Amino acid sequence: MPTSTKHANTRTRTRTRGTRSPRRWTCVGCEVTVRYGADADAPARPEGWAKRSGRWLCLHCRREQAVEKATAKGDDGWASRRQALVEFELRRSPNEPDGVIAKRANCSTGHVRKLRMQLREAGKLKAA
Ligand SMILES: [Zn+2]
Repeated sequence: MPTSTKHANTRTRTRTRGTRSPRRWTCVGCEVTVRYGADADAPARPEGWAKRSGRWLCLHCRREQAVEKATAKGDDGWASRRQALVEFELRRSPNEPDGVIAKRANCSTGHVRKLRMQLREAGKLKAA
């Protein structure tokens, strides 16, 4: 009498219903994963994520990279770090008011306003 029940173990196939399939992104930096179910209204990408040479980076890691790049030049720490954060946020969402950017970068609105003007003058930021 056979004791093995191998047939019961056959892999259950993931059913694809309709045109939508579950979407999933994994960040190469911190390995955080964002999932959307098949029924969910999945966006083209999670908020703030970007693809770099075929690999996804989450918003958090992109921030870290922007800051690291700015501070790797060997300047002072905190000031350039804060500046890099503001610049990153301004470029990511140029239409957000200064107050929102300030909150994200944890600095004053005056600082954001100043940097926004500087970036615009340097042609690094499109006028809203
Ligand atoms: Zn990440």
